[in-house]
Amino acid sequence: MSQSMLHLVCPHAGCHATNRIPENRLTQSPKCGRCQQALLTAKPMVLNDLTTAKVIQKNDVLTIVDFWAIWCQPCLMMAPEFEQAAAQLPTVVFAKLQTDQMQEAAAPYNIRSLPTMVAFRGGNEIARQSGALPSSQIVRWVRSLG
Ligand SMILES: [Zn+2]
Repeated sequence: MSQSMLHLVCPHAGCHATNRIPENRLTQSPKCGRCQQALLTAKPMVLNDLTTAKVIQKNDVLTIVDFWAIWCQPCLMMAPEFEQAAAQLPTVVFAKLQTDQMQEAAAPYNIRSLPTMVAFRGGNEIARQSGALPSSQIVRWVRSLG
């Protein structure tokens, strides 16, 4: 039986290699072929101007990006909730993009309010959700995306 292969960008700084892994290995702590570190960390990865487009465009694994800014109080309140959601959904990639620092990286996504979470798969936006949510609602929203 053939199984589908998924692209997954290594979340570790200084690596960010694009890995190709069988879908059924997502739950088996896959490791990066280049740096040997865990590909799925159950923690939000921090995106920047160099990594954002690559992670969003290459990842076939469901990827949730939290667009936030340092001056946005609801964003700061949601940060620990987003971390808790990441811990509960270890086969989903959670990532954060600080829009006031990384304006170039954020520009293509037309973020109108903060915080906004955008769900991507295979380079396509599949959903977005504006406003701060508690972890339980983040988890429910991400699970609803399949
Ligand atoms: Zn790596």
